[in-house]
Amino acid sequence: MLAVEGLNAWYGQAQALFDVRLSVGEGELVVIQGLNGAGKSTLLQSLIGIGPRAHGRITWQNAPIQTWPAHRRAQAGLGFVAEDRRLFTGLSVKENLWIAAHSRTKAQTTPAQRFEHVMALFPQLQTMLHRPASQMSGGEQQMLALARTLMTGPRLLLLDEPCEGIAPVLVAAMRDALLQLAREGVAMLVAQQNNILAQHAQRVLVLTSGRMDLAA
Ligand code: ATP
Repeated sequence: MLAVEGLNAWYGQAQALFDVRLSVGEGELVVIQGLNGAGKSTLLQSLIGIGPRAHGRITWQNAPIQTWPAHRRAQAGLGFVAEDRRLFTGLSVKENLWIAAHSRTKAQTTPAQRFEHVMALFPQLQTMLHRPASQMSGGEQQMLALARTLMTGPRLLLLDEPCEGIAPVLVAAMRDALLQLAREGVAMLVAQQNNILAQHAQRVLVLTSGRMDLAA
């Protein structure tokens, strides 16, 4: 489904990724672990096409996509949720969701079906549809960020620390939602320092100073 070979990335002269190689199969949950600064965010950003200068082969469903701009990668089914969420804070929950609804042309479901699906996945959001995103807790914002990406109908989710900095009760809700998506066949590549998802993953990869250490 996704295959990455020889991926290198640089911030100016400083190299952040060194010959990274990885793959994610159909419906697989793959976790990337690593210390702060190991390169997890840089890797996910490079895959969606918003990272620093990068070079390497990225193949998505048999197409070489490394030269594609981010919006084309998203339209092809890659969904990214950044660690900082990047919500439209002045817009309501509902507006944040619907603004993303039409952005993928090849999704197999309708926007209305996807809306129903994210409401079932995150019942918490149902009760705050008209609330501005700026008036939500960190965990609620994280759910909204994931829900918004799901509105694009992604085939593979790239998630940067989805459970970071949120209340324990919402960590459990987020974990359960992600495991539900995995059961539904959505493939996921998740950067996560802790073991919340690693224990459920098909594979756990470890990044150390920009290098992929071992694949378990
Ligand atoms: P964290 O969990 O702390 O976000 P990470 O594993 O995601 O860490 P990255 O954020 O990808 O790591 O950082 C990888 C390396 O690239 C680090 O050495 C970091 O200092 C550097 N780096 C990240 N962003 C930038 C930037 N905008 N400009 C320059 N260097 C950067």
